[in-house]
Amino acid sequence: MLACDLIVRRAHVVDGTGRDPEQLDVAVSNGRIATIATSLNASARTEIDAEGLTLAPGFIDTHTHDDTSVIEAPEMLPKISQGVTTVIVGNCGISAAPVRLKPEQQNSTPPDPMNLLGGAELFRYPTFRAYAEAVSASKPAVNVAALVGHTALRNNHMDRLDREANPSEIASMRADLQEALDAGAIGLSTGLAYYNANAASSNEVLQLAALLASAQAVYTTHMRTETEAILDAMHEAFEVGSKSRVPVIVSHLKCAGIDNWGRAEEVLHTLDTARTYQTIACDCYPYAAGSSTLDLKQVDPRVEITITWSTPHPEASGQSLAQIAEAWSLTQFEAARKLQPAGAIYHSISEIDMRRILAHPATMIGSDGLPHDPHPHPRLWGTFPRVLGRYAREEKLFSLPQAIHKMTGLPAQRFHLKERGQVREGFHADLVLFNPETILDTATFTDPIRPSQGIHSVWVNGTLGYTVAGATGTRAGRFLARSITAS
Ligand SMILES: [Zn+2]
Repeated sequence: MLACDLIVRRAHVVDGTGRDPEQLDVAVSNGRIATIATSLNASARTEIDAEGLTLAPGFIDTHTHDDTSVIEAPEMLPKISQGVTTVIVGNCGISAAPVRLKPEQQNSTPPDPMNLLGGAELFRYPTFRAYAEAVSASKPAVNVAALVGHTALRNNHMDRLDREANPSEIASMRADLQEALDAGAIGLSTGLAYYNANAASSNEVLQLAALLASAQAVYTTHMRTETEAILDAMHEAFEVGSKSRVPVIVSHLKCAGIDNWGRAEEVLHTLDTARTYQTIACDCYPYAAGSSTLDLKQVDPRVEITITWSTPHPEASGQSLAQIAEAWSLTQFEAARKLQPAGAIYHSISEIDMRRILAHPATMIGSDGLPHDPHPHPRLWGTFPRVLGRYAREEKLFSLPQAIHKMTGLPAQRFHLKERGQVREGFHADLVLFNPETILDTATFTDPIRPSQGIHSVWVNGTLGYTVAGATGTRAGRFLARSITAS
């Protein structure tokens, strides 16, 4: 009789491809899924009767800013407690590597929005290889795959970021990017909406993206704008993809700002038209509110804004900008200026638009959680169970297999994560067992640091990392270097 490390019996297996669930036994050996059968004649050191529970591939958080967290807080509780087994870091043009802060930046804050990843002391990876080694050494609880941030590259080689890079600066940025790709980076990200990247031309981005195709890497982008001119920004992103012959992933696709509400259909039509001739995907978080650094351009008295952190006024964390402005007898704009540098949650997305985008077949799930915020957006702790509990089970926006596909099989394919994202024989045993009747987020805007309910067990590379009782203390995540022979 076959002897395995683990057998999960009689689970409803949702395999990550979008297929309907099937009641199956799944055996794990040496970190891989060994056998899947209707009734397995085998024994294992650990056997679980999972009747009534759903077994799925571990969730892939396609959009994170966990770059330094995976090293500084390797338990990764906000993520593993949701069933997440892999995080993609380095989004929105900001990454922890390769970064060489300027001497004057080392004793202050890194340039916006690199400060979302933490203080200057956390940027200590001059090469991507050094970062990859640090991740491996920290033994995070979840797997980590990393993009290289365009703004980080700009800061390495430019004296100021409010202008376009010149040819010699671009050559130096290309050398950094090539080092990163050689050391396993999965792609390049841009954050063109941010001041410190906004002056970059499409040509600057194209010259970097030119290195991606031969490496089978991807281009992800927090586009130049998500407000009025969103279609132009989408065309710019798609052009980078088509000219460079690389897949494009649009980050946190949304119609931002009240004046832009109701345009999801138009935006998705533009996406679908482009998808007929090139590979494009997007990610989305399941909330009608965004979060980032406090941007004066986004201060709008019609939008409810909550301050998540402020360097000069730490007491403002968790308070509304309107209340702060009133207490200070200032306009919201003036109060926002006084709080800088700071972070904020903006309730500036329409729920109807968000649902349309979330339900689109090209959309993957990405939390965009900000782990350094003292009062974070609830997406950090709640994104994945919220999609499964609120939007699949309660609202029936999509089926459970479709929801799981958006967080497993689809992202594994789009980011070229080899042999992950499916419950399939031979694949890595990243698995989550949960109760489909009770899974739900519990983190809220007022009480955001709360683990979700309904997660039974989470295995990372075949090792049990989390149960209803909390983290097991065994961290089995790996650094996932890009694989050229992607599945
Ligand atoms: Zn972003």
